[in-house]
Amino acid sequence: MSSFMSGKRGLIMGVANNHSIAWGIAKTLAEHGAELAFTYQGDALRKRVEPLAASLGSKLVLPCDVEDVATVDALFAALKDAWGKLDFVVHAIGFSDKNELKGLYADTTRENFSRTMVISCFSFTEVAKRAAAMMPDGGSLVTLTYGGSTRVMPNYNVMGVAKAALEASVRYLAGDFGPQGIRVNALSPGPVRTLAGAGITDARLMFNYQKRHAPLRRTVSIDEIGGSALYLLSDLSSGVTGEIHYVDSGYNIISMPAPDALKT
Ligand code: NAD
Repeated sequence: MSSFMSGKRGLIMGVANNHSIAWGIAKTLAEHGAELAFTYQGDALRKRVEPLAASLGSKLVLPCDVEDVATVDALFAALKDAWGKLDFVVHAIGFSDKNELKGLYADTTRENFSRTMVISCFSFTEVAKRAAAMMPDGGSLVTLTYGGSTRVMPNYNVMGVAKAALEASVRYLAGDFGPQGIRVNALSPGPVRTLAGAGITDARLMFNYQKRHAPLRRTVSIDEIGGSALYLLSDLSSGVTGEIHYVDSGYNIISMPAPDALKT
């Protein structure tokens, strides 16, 4: 353990269990000395998040369902009471009706389009605005996106559209908050086996395809995503904002799979 992040306090949103990307990030930050607060979505997840948070010595574990803005306000009021200031936020939240994470994007319903956008995209803007108000000395915000935002990924459908809007939000928020020394970036990991990931039809196929065809010929671990988050949330990346940083074994650079990969 280093003390690289010691003295920094941050909020982790989006832990569902110990396979969550947010958990990989939290572990890495704690290993480097950061003090963390966690949110959970509903009582069912509270039982999972509380012991995980406790294992990292975190005492602040707060409810937040981003569909209900009152819970977002209550969260930041509680953080202000407890800490006064904030150094960083990790937003690792996404949701869409899994019945629409299959088949044609064109069949997305108006209702699920709106719900997906609010939870997976707009919540980051609402969180960023409240977090920035608690960052008088500057800070760093990171959200999680996926390459289905810029390329057509079968079954990813409306999530891809929401991630495209989320990435645009990263750039606009970076523009808004840059003058205050607050940086806003996104990590774009390759497929990881998580609860949210499993909601996408043929997720296993996508996982295995990227594993075979990515330049590194493997997928990434949540600890590796944690390492990239540590960079974006720490002063190491003090000159970086508005970026979408891929952590995908290089899959995003591929046009056609290499001949050897096609044979496997
Ligand atoms: P996960 O299921 O472990 O985490 C998703 C989290 O979103 C859960 O903690 C859930 O409680 C939270 N959430 C959903 N709706 C919410 C709401 N209304 N209010 C508050 N929280 C809510 O899955 P994950 O894969 O770790 O997902 C984290 C992020 O990473 C998501 O944005 C996802 O799109 C993104 N991502 C995942 C992958 C992957 O392959 N798993 C790849 C790239 C990006």
